Amino acid sequence: MSFSRFNLSRRLVEALAGLGYLEPSPIQDKVIPSALRGKSLLVQAPTGSGKTHSFLIPIVEKCDFSLPRPQAVVVAPSRELARQSYEFARAFVRYFPSFRVRLFSSESEVSQNEEGRSLPPQLIVGTPGRLVDLLVKRDDYPLNNVKTLVLDEADMLLEEGYVEEIKSLAERLKAPQALVFSATLKPHLIAALKKDFPGLDFEGNEQVTPGELHHHLLDIKHVGKARALVNFLKARKPYLCLAFSSKKEGMKPVAELLRNEGIDYVYFSGALSERDRKKAIREIRSGRHALVLASDLLARGIDLPGVSDVVSLDIPAETAFYFHRAGRAARFGEEGDSWAFYNSDTVSDARRLLLEEAGFDYYVLKGEALLKDPTSLVKKERGAKKKELPAEEIKEIKIAKALSRKKHVEPMHKKKTQFAIEKVKRKYRRAAIKKKVREAINASYKKGKR
Ligand code: AMP
Repeated sequence: MSFSRFNLSRRLVEALAGLGYLEPSPIQDKVIPSALRGKSLLVQAPTGSGKTHSFLIPIVEKCDFSLPRPQAVVVAPSRELARQSYEFARAFVRYFPSFRVRLFSSESEVSQNEEGRSLPPQLIVGTPGRLVDLLVKRDDYPLNNVKTLVLDEADMLLEEGYVEEIKSLAERLKAPQALVFSATLKPHLIAALKKDFPGLDFEGNEQVTPGELHHHLLDIKHVGKARALVNFLKARKPYLCLAFSSKKEGMKPVAELLRNEGIDYVYFSGALSERDRKKAIREIRSGRHALVLASDLLARGIDLPGVSDVVSLDIPAETAFYFHRAGRAARFGEEGDSWAFYNSDTVSDARRLLLEEAGFDYYVLKGEALLKDPTSLVKKERGAKKKELPAEEIKEIKIAKALSRKKHVEPMHKKKTQFAIEKVKRKYRRAAIKKKVREAINASYKKGKR
């Protein structure tokens, strides 16, 4: 069923269709009806679940376009996230020409602010510090029509130590409705938020996960990166592949070989002018190209639909960069694969990734064939240091093995058993990652409180 079941105005349903949104996502299903009724909500929703539109749609629906005054404020923890919400909101302007949205973050200094002052926007999106400057310290806008305050990625807002900023914004705005989105809902986070936003409800409590992302280490042997990428593309035939390189020099031979082989691609890097970068993004989004050759600039904050494969031609010195790259795939419930190229010279980089316990598996590129690699270089080195598995995990693996044992040998039997074992292992790996993240959040939250 479409968005019309929410009793939205016909114009908005048409705008959503025009923007390519025909069906609400599960999180939108949960959030939109309550948000339209003006309820305050605390929503657990990671990026990629459609959470931005779950607050934008009610905001646009309830906006009085004839009133040039702020009616909703969205607070995001980083410039990139603020810009993304801003861009999504601005897309509605085509359908509602008197809808005014402004972005206030460190990247949008004077010009937009000046413009904003002449005719106030109805929706303000920004980062905490800039919003406090603008709305609390400078008191630039009349705020008595603000109905909704959105805190996007609330766990990150607290993690980054923005407790005071959020408090002062909440006090200044006195918005009757708070929509708080967070990837995690930890007790201390709930306690802190409830203190500042009494009357919060829980909605969308159920976990809505982004699509499954699979991580692979790919041994490219003695073949150069450029040839390896060409062979990989032939073997994999990806729908949309983003190939990342940390260094500009590293991209040159790749681009050259792609051209020689007649392989179509879009090039994106910080070396391009602002205009060419925008053009490249439009090209990527058009869905006409299967390959993008990119620098890490594309790895953060930019939402590109339909990315099926991410290739790291090199493993970045900062492991977090690898995960930013990989995160471009498997968005909005899609499946995705991330491939980190390595060879005998870069095994140590590959091993560094394994420490993150994201559940990598091992492949090798042989000519134009992509094969599982049982004797992976990384595995060999790592094997020596392998830890004892926890007793519980060993027990579950035994059970999984027993359950997949059949009286008659079926086709794919070995694969099925292996899959069952992998599933148990993945579960334990995920638990280990979650534990780490939880510890990091707790630690930084404590730091923020001090
Ligand atoms: P998020 O980061 O959770 O806001 O999710 C963003 C991605 O989901 C963007 O690519 C949106 O264009 C996409 N999206 C949001 N709502 C829908 C919908 N109802 N149908 C299809 N895609 C959607």
